[in-house]
Amino acid sequence: MSKYAQVLVNIKNLGVKTYSYLIPDSISDKIKIGQVLLVPFGHQGYINAFCVGFSDYLPEDIKAKKIHSIIEEKPIFSLDYLKLLEWVANYYCTDLITVINAAIPLKLIEKVSKTEQYVEFLNFEGASKRQIQVLEVLKEIGKTNLIEFENVAKTTRATIKKLENLGCIRIVSEEIYRNPLDILHIDKKEALYELSPEQNDVYKGIRNKISVNETDTMLLHGVTASGKTEIYFKLIDDCIKSGKNVLFLVPEIALASQLTKRLAKKFGTEDVAIWHSSISDGERYDVWQKLYKDEIKILAGARSAVFAPLKNIGLIIIDEEHEGAYKQTSPAPRYDARVVAGKLSEFHQCPILLGSATPDVSSYYRALNNGNLFELKHRFNNAKVPDVSVINMQNYGKAAYRGLISKPLQTEINETLENGKQVILLINRRGYSTYSQCQACGYVIECPHCAIPMIWHSKDKKLKCHYCGHTEEFPEFCPECGSDSFRSNGVGTQKVEQFIKELYPDKRIARIDSDILVRKGEHIRLLEKFQRGEIDILVGTQMIAKGLDNPNVTLVGVISADASFNLPDFRASERGFQLLTQVAGRAGRGDFAGKVFFQTYNPEYYALESAKSQNYKNFYDKEIIAREEFDYPPYSQIIRFIISSENNFRAEKAANEIVMRLNIMCEKYGLSEHLQVLGATPCVIERINGLYRFQIIIKNKLADKGHQFISGFVSKIKMPKDLRFAIDVDPLDIL
Ligand code: ADP
Ligand code: ZN
Ligand code: ZN
Repeated sequence: MSKYAQVLVNIKNLGVKTYSYLIPDSISDKIKIGQVLLVPFGHQGYINAFCVGFSDYLPEDIKAKKIHSIIEEKPIFSLDYLKLLEWVANYYCTDLITVINAAIPLKLIEKVSKTEQYVEFLNFEGASKRQIQVLEVLKEIGKTNLIEFENVAKTTRATIKKLENLGCIRIVSEEIYRNPLDILHIDKKEALYELSPEQNDVYKGIRNKISVNETDTMLLHGVTASGKTEIYFKLIDDCIKSGKNVLFLVPEIALASQLTKRLAKKFGTEDVAIWHSSISDGERYDVWQKLYKDEIKILAGARSAVFAPLKNIGLIIIDEEHEGAYKQTSPAPRYDARVVAGKLSEFHQCPILLGSATPDVSSYYRALNNGNLFELKHRFNNAKVPDVSVINMQNYGKAAYRGLISKPLQTEINETLENGKQVILLINRRGYSTYSQCQACGYVIECPHCAIPMIWHSKDKKLKCHYCGHTEEFPEFCPECGSDSFRSNGVGTQKVEQFIKELYPDKRIARIDSDILVRKGEHIRLLEKFQRGEIDILVGTQMIAKGLDNPNVTLVGVISADASFNLPDFRASERGFQLLTQVAGRAGRGDFAGKVFFQTYNPEYYALESAKSQNYKNFYDKEIIAREEFDYPPYSQIIRFIISSENNFRAEKAANEIVMRLNIMCEKYGLSEHLQVLGATPCVIERINGLYRFQIIIKNKLADKGHQFISGFVSKIKMPKDLRFAIDVDPLDIL
């Protein structure tokens, strides 16, 4: 038996740390990894701790204290589980403690604290300097317990109230995250639907695949409302009958709630549980225990559920797999639940089924090339997809109301309202980004090396590429058509709302974007009002693109479709295509046919054309060529470093030094050709909370080998105190 145990403690103000403790003889034959222990800890007296490892010596000359006792003999996680977390720490170049912190609800070992309110970060808009500092912390820690946050930030209830009034944060009670199963009463399980012939073919195909190779990742690509969920249910049923369990991930908490109810109706409340970052502590503890005892058959949850200790997994389903919400962007570990699920499936020797109407380009690429692609091409019952028209603003822009609302769109709005139907208008404006576009031909100035839009910097009067640092003068004339009508674009929802009110003074008009969240639950109230038909025209950002299922909406207009595509990011086309395809799906869901209008200066843009015809394959075929040409995923792996400091000069210098050292190392090992190092350049958001930010982008074409090389390099970086270093493996965007 080992002499010492490494234990993990979670101490207020110290955070999560591991310490070594002496194992007393009395428990030496009982102690196991994953048990909850009682240990002495300074002034705190006795506290709870997890056992995470053993050793026979102490690295330094420390006198270890003795473990007092084992609180729970039954471990709450296993060695395999710890191995999974270690793998995650390695992959994302962070330490195990950070991963444990994210994966294991540390409330399990804390003294129970009763809290009811959580703060959700929304945006920075309108906040003062001091408030931005508070917001920055909030953003870092994600959805956070209000009372704990007040300790962390040493701020007052008053600041938080002000931020809430500004619409920068939302305070939510835990109540809305209650387990939906508590209030669900099910007398009799519903039978599964009989599958349509098209569904049945796909179902059989997936079954066959599973029987041949148990650890494949398959992709179910099915247009919206094609009946993917019913196929999942059939596969779940098979899996449970074979004595194994199912992990079912969805991108959002609200979706997890809906799904859990749907699952419970089919499979019974006993066997189903829900898991996400916001379930109550008591709930979390109960579910964790049940999972560990193998009493749950189907676990539904959001991103963090990939870390729930579900046993004996026979199938992992990841629905809406293209959604960015599967990736944690901040704080570390910056993990992608899909990647972690991949490792999890190896441990359990089980398959993964991804599903989406607009799959991630990389997922589609892999599925296509591995013969793991399954497709549903029609809506269930052959329901119609809406008709999309593209309005070329090169022709219609001048006559458009305020240059924004074209005549054809106005005519269509008039007609729709006369028929007593409702209208959705989308403006997907993101605050910081403006791109420069020719109003005559639609040409957007792009970096010749990176194929992403250049950003106008008014301070230096130059166009800059935020990937590679390439700069250019602003062209006097359009290189494409010679006209001099370049304009930096950027129109917000508020402007559009104002113009629409001017045009339709006697109609009921409402706006949904993060600014209206000033009042708690305001957007839900507005959506409900819209649903009841008490709003004629709803103007909004992507917040209105998802989930709305209102049969009375027959017209969807996208004011500036270009804005979705022209972010300086290699995934901008993909994201834009997904957004437009989704918002188009909001029209004509009832008995009346829907119409969709995209206003654009660039009607021939491939992603827009594919969104118009709702043709994913069309989009993919073009997009994948660009990805290959510029070595973007799936042809490379992107790894991003961010170096930040209050001192602009020092941050830049450190970033450049890292680039230099990395380049020398790459050359030394002959990797330069396959490990491309770009930068250092200022981030698109150059300064956050007083910190100047510089980024380095690495395109790794050596898969694991390159990744390991970078991890090794990173582990040797020592930053002075005034500099911060962050690494993001497979970042969601590079903004
Ligand atoms: P998706 O997940 O692809 O968006 P859903 O699975 O939610 O689509 O199916 C869309 C609608 O069609 C749902 O109301 C669903 O109940 C219904 N549906 C799908 N398949 C069947 C089936 N085989 N029998 C009866 N109804 C079905
Ligand atoms: Zn032009
Ligand atoms: Zn560039």
